[in-house]
Amino acid sequence: VPDRTWLITGGAGFIGSNLAERLLRDGRSVIVLDDLSTGTAANVDRLRAAGGERFRLVEADLLDEAALAEAMSGTDVIVNLAAQVSVPASVADPSTTHRINTEGFETILRVAGAGGARRIVYASSSAVFGDNPNLPLVEEAETRPMSPYAESKLANERAAAAHVKAHPGATVTGLRFFNVYGPHQSATGGYAAVIPAWRKALTEGRAPVIYGDGQQTRDFCHVSDVTAVIRAAAVAASEGAAPLYNVGAGHAVTLLELLDVMSGLARRAGHSVRDAVFEAERPGDIRHSSCDIARVTSALGVVPSVTLAEGLAPMMGID
Ligand code: NAD
Repeated sequence: VPDRTWLITGGAGFIGSNLAERLLRDGRSVIVLDDLSTGTAANVDRLRAAGGERFRLVEADLLDEAALAEAMSGTDVIVNLAAQVSVPASVADPSTTHRINTEGFETILRVAGAGGARRIVYASSSAVFGDNPNLPLVEEAETRPMSPYAESKLANERAAAAHVKAHPGATVTGLRFFNVYGPHQSATGGYAAVIPAWRKALTEGRAPVIYGDGQQTRDFCHVSDVTAVIRAAAVAASEGAAPLYNVGAGHAVTLLELLDVMSGLARRAGHSVRDAVFEAERPGDIRHSSCDIARVTSALGVVPSVTLAEGLAPMMGID
């Protein structure tokens, strides 16, 4: 299966820029389509340095069909990571989430169906499971979306299934990411994910904020393991199918346990660590989440291997 040329929507963002950098370092060509809404110029500069002429940025909205068709032409693989990524933001502004996440992905499918790449990988989310208590979550677990964000990801899964029925030569693979972390993850604004938010607080001598009691559980997976899964999914032999995989580390921790690891690393790096401040739980947040990775490891042959301590140490300034 050829995978020389990749289109990555949202490639100026956290997961996308990590994926693009890896691909460029391995000699692939990468086109990033991104409106730079949460993606950064610094990420783009990094990719330009890594890829030279094998890298190209198309600065455009995902719903710009002409830009998308041009960016897609000649690519072997499309990875859709562009999205309005925040659960609280989706609660505050559901129509923007619907436009970017739901209609944006449907635009990709429509343009690809008219003659673009046949292999599409897209980001779904563990949020589709909502508060399903049957942990760890297997792929067949009942979906219970609890936010417009979760609903938009579920809509992507339905659109993917419908697309491969209408276009039997296509493969559209959905990856339900649990909590991804790693370098170049944004720590700015009120919608920052917990690890970059706490990293910033702990290294700047401020108190980390916990929403709720800290007993919530999450499966944190390092972005290098996630990019390995995306690459395996892109070349897996499953024509005419819309497979779904849960993607995590296969190991959940409480937020208090996470904070303990991060605080220890911050102290080792020489920071004076403040006690956490507890604030009210946020609407749409899920209490417990834990990922069963049996299917992704057996079908795609990728076993997540980066431990939390290994993944966090360099982020906290320890080699
Ligand atoms: P991110 O915000 O860093 O990346 C999203 C990128 O999409 C940004 O570069 C942004 O500029 C771009 N974008 C947003 N709207 C756009 C539009 N209308 N047109 C073009 N580009 C647009 O977020 P991320 O963490 O890298 O997330 C990537 C994908 O993975 C998203 O689909 C997200 O929902 C999904 N996901 C992430 C996690 C996680 O833990 N990070 C978990 C589950 C799912």
